[in-house]
Amino acid sequence: MICVTIGRGRHRHVIAEHKFLAENGIRLVEQRLDFIEGPVQVKRLLLNRPCPTIATCRRAADGGRWQGTEDERMLVLRTAIVEGVDYVDLEDDVAGRVPRYGVTKRIVSHHDFQRTPDDLEAIHARLAALDADIVKIATMARHPSDNLRMLALVRSARVPTVGICMGDIGIPSRVLVGRCGAPFTFATFHEDRAIAPGQIGWRRMRDVYRYDSITDVTKIYGVVADPVAHSLSPVVHNAALAAAGIDAVYLPFRVPADQIDAFLEQAARWPLSGASVTIPHKEAVLKHAARQDALVESIGAANTLAFDADGIEAFNTDATAAVESLEAALADHHADQSAPGIGVKTALVLGAGGAARAVAFGLRQRDVDVTVCSRTLERARRIATEVGCKAIDWAARYRMPYDCVVNATPVGMHPHVNETPFEKQHLRSYMVVFDTVYNPENTLLVKEAMAIGCHIVTGVDMFVRQAAIQHRIWHGVEPPQGVMREALKKATSSARTHE
Ligand code: NAP
Repeated sequence: MICVTIGRGRHRHVIAEHKFLAENGIRLVEQRLDFIEGPVQVKRLLLNRPCPTIATCRRAADGGRWQGTEDERMLVLRTAIVEGVDYVDLEDDVAGRVPRYGVTKRIVSHHDFQRTPDDLEAIHARLAALDADIVKIATMARHPSDNLRMLALVRSARVPTVGICMGDIGIPSRVLVGRCGAPFTFATFHEDRAIAPGQIGWRRMRDVYRYDSITDVTKIYGVVADPVAHSLSPVVHNAALAAAGIDAVYLPFRVPADQIDAFLEQAARWPLSGASVTIPHKEAVLKHAARQDALVESIGAANTLAFDADGIEAFNTDATAAVESLEAALADHHADQSAPGIGVKTALVLGAGGAARAVAFGLRQRDVDVTVCSRTLERARRIATEVGCKAIDWAARYRMPYDCVVNATPVGMHPHVNETPFEKQHLRSYMVVFDTVYNPENTLLVKEAMAIGCHIVTGVDMFVRQAAIQHRIWHGVEPPQGVMREALKKATSSARTHE
């Protein structure tokens, strides 16, 4: 069950949000009474409440906004109990002072905004002994393995326990806690109004992660990156899983660079079935791979891992996706072409990072004459040596005409949508313009190239194709690419609206 936390300053807003949530199928709400500005009218908030309610009133030390005295806070909580609130949240240092009364169930809670302490079991035993119906522990995750310790605690607890790690490293624990036996997890009313660090919106919890359908046999996948908060892979992969009816969930794993080895060594404890890998881990994961596909061996970087009893298998889906995107876009265009392979002879790749390397490699495999162009010439030269192409300085990008121009830099990406890596006066109508940026799909480069009649390949196409190849690798079935594309487009446009 998803418990949605409401934190609003005005009573009428709390009541309106509570009603809205109940109408949308939410069956448990936490009212954060410490958010109310001025005297708290507990009776008014609880009267005719449309679904069961947890009354919580947090001090600043526990991440709350309570500004009155401790006696006043206790009065608010006691009033909620007298009014018969369904649950009351009592911090561990006050729970002993508030006796059980009436129908109200007691949630005894502990918060640590600094770390996930080593002695979680001891803390849990102390809370459970305070006449708890439910134990709640929320601690800051500093390491992905903090999630594992917390989930193990929830699984072994005799008293129903909601154990959550805070911060973006802790997001997996919020989604998986029900799988380990927790009675509910917490989500926020609005993504932009997270009440605790790492808390996610109830719609995302319900519709993207499908919290209520996660069980002990649900397989776990995810994207491993740092940062990971803006990754759209969870939206795309979870939409595909839902549409394909696959019992699996795909999570964002923020794994700092110095923790990737430990994360992969502990993969079986989640247990992880597969992972997308992105910045900064694409090369670091290779030493953990028992097997690699031919592209990983050639490119020296992986963006996909599959875990099984025989160890980790590494794949690279970026190069194939880039070339497939070009092929698909040009399929109807090259009936009259004499060029072999994908129908372009020369390509300029802008940028010299992971995407540029994958694109350059994919194009070279199709015999395209590739030139990599980068601000940092040294990086371009390295790719040139690795894939067998030319390297030029950023300033030299307009000197020669190319059949195809590929943007593999972040230039033009949201929010810098008025920038282009290739000025429009140098575009020609015969060119194929491929922008790997997918947020937005119609970058300035794409718009200007379209305006003069160039053939266009977009980053959305490449992104969906690389995710689709991952889906095939992990699940062995054809991916619902239309659903994935729609999910990506919807997520990019709603992310822009919310900023
Ligand atoms: P990366 O490894 O960080 O490389 C970025 C490259 O862009 C570097 O060569 C960098 O040059 C260059 N660059 C950055 N800012 C620049 C600027 N203002 N002017 C000129 N060059 C600039 O990143 P990546 O993984 O290759 O990803 C690059 C972009 O590709 C991403 O932002 C994303 O939009 C896109 N991408 C798309 C897909 C897809 O499926 N559609 C997949 C992966 C990536 P320096 O070396 O000089 O810093």
